[in-house]
Parts: sequence; structure tokens; C-alpha cells
Amino acid sequence: EEINLEIFAQNIIDSFQIKYADYEIDLSIKGVETFKSDPLLLGSLFDNLIENAYKYANPGSKFLKISIYKSKKNIIFSFEDKGIGIDRKEIKNIFKKFYRIQSQYNQQGSVGLGLAFCKELVNFMDGDITVTSRPGIGSHFKITLPYDR
Ligand code: ATP
Ligand code: MG
Repeated sequence: EEINLEIFAQNIIDSFQIKYADYEIDLSIKGVETFKSDPLLLGSLFDNLIENAYKYANPGSKFLKISIYKSKKNIIFSFEDKGIGIDRKEIKNIFKKFYRIQSQYNQQGSVGLGLAFCKELVNFMDGDITVTSRPGIGSHFKITLPYDR
């Protein structure tokens, strides 16, 4: 299905901001208007990454920047938060099923499946998900999906 990215992303952001009015989400879309995909699958990637950014936010900087743009034959969905960040040695673990970083920040009710699910889904969609992060500064998750299929 041909997804209008602006409408699609803004809808998801709006529904989050009804729940979490104190969390700011900035959307930037450059050089691309539509994307052929399953909106339920793409939507669950957005939901998981936004939910994480919210859960692992810093009390002082509740902010997420979502950028959508094209790079060569791919579309990139970028999620940059100013949250608590992820220790370098934990990066390889966070995509594992049921893995959660043991720290005081861990949320009750989290099971540690969100990113494992995202990884499986992105693989299924012939794409990739990567992260760079600095503890105390924030995390940057990037989903790359093929644009022309
Ligand atoms: P679930 O998604 O199943 O509700 P969860 O959010 O704990 O639980 P994942 O989404 O798989 O699980 O994330 C795994 C772990 O990676 C989290 O427990 C958290 O420690 C860390 N993490 C994920 N996203 C972020 C983020 N944006 N900032 C800091 N840490 C993160
Ligand atoms: Mg999660």
C-alpha cells in the first residue's frame, strides 16, 4: 500500500502526544513523500521506537526527533532521542529477546521484546536497524528499508 509519510507519521505522533502530552516529538521529512509498505508493520516499528524513547527519556529533556529521508536506493527512518543512552557494551544485547539493561531506570511492565521484534520485522522487510548511543546524552536508532521493490 502506498503510504503518505507525512500523514502516516503525524498520525502516530499525534496519538502518542495525546497519551504523553509532556513529551515533544519533532518530525522532518526530506526528499520523499510516499513509501510502499504495510502500514501496520511500519506503524509497529514507529510505536516501539517512540515508546522506548519516551520510557528511557531523561527527566530534563523529553524530546525525540524523527527524520525520514532517502539515501541511494533506501529510505531511512531515524529516531534521535535525548534520553539516558545505552552503554557501549550493552549495544549488542538490546536486540535480543527478553533482554533489558539492568539499571534503576528500567521500567516496570517492560519485557524486553520491543527491539527484538523490530529487528525481526526489519529483517523480514529486507532492511536493517542500527543504533549509536552515548550514555547521558541520547540514542540514535536508524531503520533502513529498500525504497524500490
Ligand atoms: P518492551 O519493549 O518489551 O516493552 P523494553 O522496552 O524494555 O520492553 P526493548 O524495547 O527491547 O525492551 O529494549 C531493550 C532495552 O534496551 C531496554 O530495556 C532498555 O534498557 C534499552 N533501550 C531501548 N531503547 C532505548 C532508548 N531509546 N534509550 C535508552 N535505552 C533504551
Ligand atoms: Mg521497548
